[in-house]
Amino acid sequence: MSGIYIHIPFCKKACHYCDFHFSTSLKYADEMVDSICKEIKMKKDRISGQVGSIYFGGGTPSILPQAALQKIFDAVNQTFSVDSNAEITIETNPDDLTAQKLKELKQLPVNRFSVGIQSFFNEDLIWMNRAHNAKDAEDCIMRSQDAGFENLTLDLIYGYPLLTDTKWLSNISRAIELQVPHISAYALTVEPRTALAHAIKSKKQIPVNDNQSAAQFVILMDKLIEAGFEHYEISNFAKPGCYAVHNTNYWKGVDYIGIGPSAHGFNGQNRYINPANNSLYIEKLENNKLPELVEELSLNDRFNEYIMTSIRTMWGTDLQKITTDFGKDFLEETRHNLRSFDDKGWLNIVGDQIRLTQSGKLFADHIAAELFVIE
Ligand code: SF4
Repeated sequence: MSGIYIHIPFCKKACHYCDFHFSTSLKYADEMVDSICKEIKMKKDRISGQVGSIYFGGGTPSILPQAALQKIFDAVNQTFSVDSNAEITIETNPDDLTAQKLKELKQLPVNRFSVGIQSFFNEDLIWMNRAHNAKDAEDCIMRSQDAGFENLTLDLIYGYPLLTDTKWLSNISRAIELQVPHISAYALTVEPRTALAHAIKSKKQIPVNDNQSAAQFVILMDKLIEAGFEHYEISNFAKPGCYAVHNTNYWKGVDYIGIGPSAHGFNGQNRYINPANNSLYIEKLENNKLPELVEELSLNDRFNEYIMTSIRTMWGTDLQKITTDFGKDFLEETRHNLRSFDDKGWLNIVGDQIRLTQSGKLFADHIAAELFVIE
């Protein structure tokens, strides 16, 4: 079943490390919601079967009032047939999850929250310039669970200078104690044109240390696996069966449409890319034009994408699929390129399945890049 990704490009504050597309001004929020609804309707023909997942990302979707979110759901339901068991996720920030907000979200068909906790330490949240504090991070999870939202995933960040291994262990332990079925954890990366990159360049912040990140990734894997989580994708851990449907479909190459500024869609052949510009996006849709650019993916592009996404998952890369979808030349080249990583003990090859070992997971991106086929 196809998926729908909807990008809500607004946030209360700009986190220092963030390079996602968002605005801290809600001035044009009404126009944005109208444009999003229009884009949904204009993409009616992009999905023929049922919708199996809807993902509200951003930005901070929980910043929108209930009426605006309802309007978007109405547009989706008027345009597509949504499966009755569809996973419907909304990204939320802890400071938004008040008792009143939870009551409002209860009236929507949302059945999964992705909560941007990042850390349970105030000093870290201030360093990141997050809009919430440590108390919000603690309280919002229990409040959500009390309101009947059990299907929660928490986002955590590691590898930043303030985070000692002891603090990292404490963050992981707190997330486990909160009894959520899913945790996503990301190593801090310094993206160009962010406040963090600027601060490092002007020597106001110390650079990120790769060895610290690697060590904290090992701590993460050890602690979460010990607590009964499955490490089903490099940055994602789930209690058995509680995998994120939307993201798993993305990694498995299932079609999805992208709605909203900066959103991407994929139909198995081409990628559709919306501009990361709120006024341009609104203007195009007000003129009844889809704002997207179409990127035609070559066979090599699709192969590289398959390698990049599959090797990071616990299901791994399937040599049989490479033969069927890409041909014997791709299979031969992959077999050849695999050898050195197999010798290093980074891969577990059983039959046609290639999976990363625990040590291989530390080099996932490097291994994927070496398996790419370059024109
Ligand atoms: S809340 Fe999320 S999208 Fe918004 S600035 Fe922070 S990290 Fe970026």
